[in-house]
Amino acid sequence: MGNVIIHRLYNVALIVCLIHLTLGDQPKIIIIGAGPAGIAAASKLYEHGFHNLTILEAESRIGGRVYTTWFDESWVDLGGQSVHGETGNIVFQIASPLGLLEVPDGNGGLDFNIHDSKGSQLPVDIADDLLELYLNVSAIAEKALEGNNGSMGDFFAPEFSRELLKYQTFNETVVKGLIKMFEGLTISTDSADNWNNISAKNFVGYADCPGSEIVNWKDRGYGTILDILMKKYPNPEEELPIMNNTLLNSEVVNVNYNATDKKVLIETNNGQKYTADHVIVTPSLGVLKEQYETLFTPQLPESKVKTIKGLSMGSAAKIYFAFKEPWWPANRSLVLLWDETDRREYENDPSKKWLLDLISFTVVPHRPRLLRAWINGAGARYMETLPESQAFDEAFALLDKFFGKSYNITKPTGHLRTNWNTNKHFRGAYSFRSMESERADVWANELAAPLLLDGKPIVMFAGEATNSQHWSTVHGAIDSGFREADRLIELYNTKNLSK
Ligand SMILES: Cc1cc2nc3c(=O)[nH]c(=O)nc-3n(C[C@H](O)[C@H](O)[C@H](O)COP(=O)(O)OP(=O)(O)OC[C@H]3O[C@@H](n4cnc5c(N)ncnc54)[C@H](O)[C@@H]3O)c2cc1C
Repeated sequence: MGNVIIHRLYNVALIVCLIHLTLGDQPKIIIIGAGPAGIAAASKLYEHGFHNLTILEAESRIGGRVYTTWFDESWVDLGGQSVHGETGNIVFQIASPLGLLEVPDGNGGLDFNIHDSKGSQLPVDIADDLLELYLNVSAIAEKALEGNNGSMGDFFAPEFSRELLKYQTFNETVVKGLIKMFEGLTISTDSADNWNNISAKNFVGYADCPGSEIVNWKDRGYGTILDILMKKYPNPEEELPIMNNTLLNSEVVNVNYNATDKKVLIETNNGQKYTADHVIVTPSLGVLKEQYETLFTPQLPESKVKTIKGLSMGSAAKIYFAFKEPWWPANRSLVLLWDETDRREYENDPSKKWLLDLISFTVVPHRPRLLRAWINGAGARYMETLPESQAFDEAFALLDKFFGKSYNITKPTGHLRTNWNTNKHFRGAYSFRSMESERADVWANELAAPLLLDGKPIVMFAGEATNSQHWSTVHGAIDSGFREADRLIELYNTKNLSK
């Protein structure tokens, strides 16, 4: 308690101290990227009296991979959609007391019907058993994989196989199909291409926040978290001037931390130059992988480069379909089970192969007329390269192939797809630990390490991939933004600001 009071007094003293300095005397802080990490860092810094800050954002909007947009008379999320967990999740902690979140009951939101590529449906009680089996195996995996240096596939494939062979009703071919189905469901949380390339440590090292994995935003979208961080919600009069300090369409092309005056020189694609005492870099791991050689002057230290190369960026895509009326069973998603011969046919046809990575058509909470197709890994990357109408037509034909015999499927009234991989400001969906990360022995905290000048952090890194416990998530991104804000708050708590 005593420490808390002392810390609060420090913060009050810091704010008073900063407010007494003119803006020009305050340390200049530039944040690259207005995603959740950047907005979180800016909001916290602003609240602690650091008012000389600017966010440079490449896109024409804020939010990054949190992208809530209007579609078919409701808000939908093109990026982050569910709050993963409750306890220890910063998003849940700040949004739940405002009554904005819904925690589904029991398996609510996870239930699914399974149909095969010949159009037959597995009995609903078997689908329920399979969901239970899937959840049970996932639950024991945490302990079983501890200290394991292999891949997730090494554990999950034989484990699912053993459990499935207990069913008299499934022959070996169906078991094979079901294992593939489980692989699709398992890897969707990592956006990897397959589970043989996801390290077991990815599963064990990620710190689950206890509680539901699919807490939803009711009729709002995940973008509401940005309003809460900027204090625009719940009371717009208290909004912090973060938007006023954000320059959109400003893609940073170089961060020069070699300047002689101990400042960082930042250049954007529209030829603007900025100097800063500190810069917080938040673009995705995908962007860093593509641009680390040109983005920084001088080149980043070898350990940082090795980490950027060694951590992995996954791909995932969504296609939303809107219908006049729902024709599917309420609150049950539709999962695809491939027949072996059909699978082989699609595997051997380069133009159809991507459809094998479309694993489900999911119901969307509070949007009764929408279905959301989820596409993993390589299929997501390929889908993005197709003309829009072709991607929609092929995905809809797949829906019809699997489910057309069981339901009266109507023509969609609208569709919308994502393009996280083709967009150069993202180059993927979210990071994960692959077998390559294992072999390279690289870790998120190395990515998070700041570059120092005279012991002072001048180039700092935030973003989901820098979070060693909650990578790949919105709450992980926000935690990382707060972490870097705290680093500066601490620095100026102990330093004479006039220096
Ligand atoms: C399809 C999909 C589904 C997801 N589902 C969930 C989910 O259900 N729950 C969950 O918790 N998470 C989910 N995520 C992950 C979550 O959205 C991300 O982890 C999180 O948003 C990352 O935030 P960030 O601030 O680290 O990065 P970003 O959101 O990528 O922000 C970085 C910002 O930097 C900008 N930028 C890039 N390059 C430059 C440059 N050179 N100059 C200036 N600006 C630049 C970008 O435009 C972007 O705005 C999902 C992501 C995707 C793609």
